[in-house]
Amino acid sequence: MKNRNVLISGASVAGPALAYWLGRYGFNPTVVEVAPALRGGGYAVDFRGPAHLTVLESMGILEQLRGLQTGGSPLRFVDETGRTLLHLPGEFAGGDVEVLRSDLSRVLYEHSRDTTEHLFGDSIAAMTQTAGGVEVTFERGAEGTFDLVVGADGLHSNVRGLTFGPESRSVSFLGYHLAGWDIPNYLDLGPESLMYNVPGKLASVSGDHRDPTRASTLFVFASPPLDYDRRDVEQQKKLLADAFAGIGWEVPTLLEALWDAPELYFDSISRVDLQPWSAGRVTLVGDAAAGATLGGMGTGTAVVAAYVLPGELAAAGGDHRTAFPRYEEAVRGYAQGTQKGGDRTGRFLAPRSVLGMQLRNRLLGNRVLLNMMLKAGQQVSGKINLKDYR
Ligand SMILES: Cc1cc2nc3c(=O)[nH]c(=O)nc-3n(C[C@H](O)[C@H](O)[C@H](O)COP(=O)(O)OP(=O)(O)OC[C@H]3O[C@@H](n4cnc5c(N)ncnc54)[C@H](O)[C@@H]3O)c2cc1C
Repeated sequence: MKNRNVLISGASVAGPALAYWLGRYGFNPTVVEVAPALRGGGYAVDFRGPAHLTVLESMGILEQLRGLQTGGSPLRFVDETGRTLLHLPGEFAGGDVEVLRSDLSRVLYEHSRDTTEHLFGDSIAAMTQTAGGVEVTFERGAEGTFDLVVGADGLHSNVRGLTFGPESRSVSFLGYHLAGWDIPNYLDLGPESLMYNVPGKLASVSGDHRDPTRASTLFVFASPPLDYDRRDVEQQKKLLADAFAGIGWEVPTLLEALWDAPELYFDSISRVDLQPWSAGRVTLVGDAAAGATLGGMGTGTAVVAAYVLPGELAAAGGDHRTAFPRYEEAVRGYAQGTQKGGDRTGRFLAPRSVLGMQLRNRLLGNRVLLNMMLKAGQQVSGKINLKDYR
């Protein structure tokens, strides 16, 4: 086997899943993660359909994840007085198995730890490809040569930027921004999300799955592309407060808590469109290759891609020139199919007109139509022929 030393950037979902399979096939993975430790906190992610579950089962973690299930997160759209306009059951957003992203990441990390070297609190600063490998310089000054480098570092991938140039070439903005922050659970909510719309905007809040004293928000708003500094949280808070100024329901209280929130998640709703995913000895997996901010089954797709890539590498004796195109051929169409769900997420969560809101509520309030949609989602997520690489 050649090309045994593989550097992976990112330790969330795709990164540790990839490290697990590489280790199992006899490669030596190293994972570099910019955060000082595995990222905790955050939202619930879901797996749905046979492809996702088959991969989790073959990794030997499906039962462990079932034991960590959140039980699903129902969505309740309400009007200003709190009257229910639409109720969606837990399986709508929660699929077959829903877990906290942080739990999933920890399980994958623990599963891959014995065969993987981890570098936390660091990031790739520069890469130079030579005939024999990739020379890498890390932000903290260390240097190393790896046979292959894989970007598993999310929608705003550092490896993609270093290899394929600025994000404007590979990421398409889908007309919305979203934000989330933690608050005290002053409404005494369970895991059900309360969702309130005005045209082009959604304000929502749900109780924490673990800690009954905590809750989290998710705000979505239609907008043109916004020019902001990704590291300037105060600027992002101001953008958000301006976008939701004057809106009723619980919005003023939720915004008040925003100013005290130590952390804010703020991003555009976007989709990664890049072809090809590889350049020489560098390739991408998960959201870095084909992400959609949310609603695109990104977690399941990441786990499936992280199964196929090492399988193809092992089958090709480590030859990336054979394996990378085969990996892309096997996964690209599948990933694009699941990504499409993400294109609709902004419009679904925050329709731009009252008519759009009424139409969504009427369509999804119909049990038959809802079941058809759930079934269609299952079909899309199952549309891949997974080879048995063992
Ligand atoms: C609010 C919200 C809700 C979502 N809900 C769902 C859902 O219900 N179902 C679903 O399937 N998906 C959902 N998603 C999408 C899901 O989170 C992603 O598709 C999935 O996490 C992709 O995994 P990934 O490992 O490719 O990327 P990410 O999870 O984004 O992880 C990237 C990792 O790379 C690290 N990193 C970033 N930059 C660097 C760098 N320079 N150097 C080293 N490391 C770096 C990050 O710290 C992170 O650990 C949701 C997303 C959001 C934002």
